[in-house]
Amino acid sequence: MNKHIVIVGGGYVGLYTALRLQRRLHRELRAGEVRVTIIDPQSYMTYQPFLPEAAAGNLSPRHVVAPLRRILPGVRILNGTVTKVNHGEHTVTFQPAEGEAREVAYDVIVMAAGSISRTLPIPGLTDIGIGFKTVGEAIALRNRVLHLLDVAESTDDPEVRRRALTFVVVGAGFAGVEALAELEDMAKDSTRYYRNIGPSDVRWVLVEATNRVLPEVGPEMGRWTLEQLRERGIEVKLDTRLESCVGGHVVLSDGTEFDAETLVWTAGVKPSPVVKDSDLPLDERGRIKTTAMLTVAGAEGAFAAGDAAGVPDVTNPGQYCAPNAQHAVRQARVLGDNIVRYLRGQQLVQYRHKYVGSVAGLGLHQGVANVYGIKLRGFPAWFMHRTYHLSRVPTLNRKVRVVVDWTLALFFKRETISLGEMEHPREDFRAAVATTHR
Ligand SMILES: Cc1cc2nc3c(=O)[nH]c(=O)nc-3n(C[C@H](O)[C@H](O)[C@H](O)COP(=O)(O)OP(=O)(O)OC[C@H]3O[C@@H](n4cnc5c(N)ncnc54)[C@H](O)[C@@H]3O)c2cc1C
Repeated sequence: MNKHIVIVGGGYVGLYTALRLQRRLHRELRAGEVRVTIIDPQSYMTYQPFLPEAAAGNLSPRHVVAPLRRILPGVRILNGTVTKVNHGEHTVTFQPAEGEAREVAYDVIVMAAGSISRTLPIPGLTDIGIGFKTVGEAIALRNRVLHLLDVAESTDDPEVRRRALTFVVVGAGFAGVEALAELEDMAKDSTRYYRNIGPSDVRWVLVEATNRVLPEVGPEMGRWTLEQLRERGIEVKLDTRLESCVGGHVVLSDGTEFDAETLVWTAGVKPSPVVKDSDLPLDERGRIKTTAMLTVAGAEGAFAAGDAAGVPDVTNPGQYCAPNAQHAVRQARVLGDNIVRYLRGQQLVQYRHKYVGSVAGLGLHQGVANVYGIKLRGFPAWFMHRTYHLSRVPTLNRKVRVVVDWTLALFFKRETISLGEMEHPREDFRAAVATTHR
């Protein structure tokens, strides 16, 4: 046997599949009979459920990501993008960060490229909108919120101040509600250091096209979350769509208009574009058509899972597994085992997992949970959110770092510094050069 397994994407599915293969094919990997390669633009896996806490400054950005090369010493990591999958030829086109694209041949492929923000052609959205899927976006938002508090404090112009202190989040699922709740909590906490800004001066608007928030925790806890957010002074606009936001002038479908400096778009996801740039079959929602065994329908040697795949939910016939980490991690384990079975000519098994509900953090000491039918709110839910996600973060090293961050936050006040200048590191140097040429 001399097989090359290529995994497209080093997120949840990619990392956990590779971990499984590293363990189950230990001997074959050492003997060089099997090679595993992960291709991803980043050299780390992002633990997305912790992005809101990283944005709020409760966790260091470095501690919400897991370094692929350290965790997977038996796996080759190539940094760059897969731009095309030619399964007919069993090759992918790999575009490295620098240099020419090249073909990489494989025997087995795992499509684990996840999803990207699903946007709509709304005027102005590409100019002022920001997503909330990457550690870069989470930290940029944190810097932005804190920077805009500085702007508001330092201006004499009431229009500039109002605009700076208005934040809009579109989409009230997991990502939107958690990001808004954590950032609002941080901003409120930070206002104590400003002379002219009180907590009620900062305006947060949550815009949701359906009539509910946080569907992941069920209708009852969703309603409670809605009340909670409104009690905190957050304007939640249900059954409302964003119509336009040209130059930061926000127009909503209920007729409301106002100016905002920041608009976060978290209204759903769609499969990574590489899915379309492949000759693998797609389902009606543009995801890879996947069987319950996590193979790609009708494509020998191809496997898929996670947000990029339409995986049938065998516990709920006729439905698909939702795009979430709960499924992605479990699918990856079955997928890894099925690759081993495939290589050994054994019968593959089906992926079977009944969604057990969810936990969500809503700011420090606040949360909501509905797991295995147990409904919790406030502090107990927040505690459950933290302990659950701590247990899920890959590697002991990361777990310890997360606990240390949380422990420090218990004893010291939250960091409220905007390090936005890190996004433009050459500006000061350019200004210095300009002065010498004057
Ligand atoms: C803010 C936020 C909070 C969340 N909270 C929860 C939660 O509490 N509970 C829960 O169950 N789920 C949660 N989710 C959802 C969960 O994180 C995703 O469902 C999960 O990450 C999907 O795993 P995946 O492996 O399919 O994709 P990802 O983990 O996104 O990994 C995909 C990887 O593929 C790479 N990639 C993409 N295109 C290419 C390409 N062309 N070539 C090479 N590599 C590529 C990407 O860089 C990425 O590393 C949350 C998501 C977000 C954004």
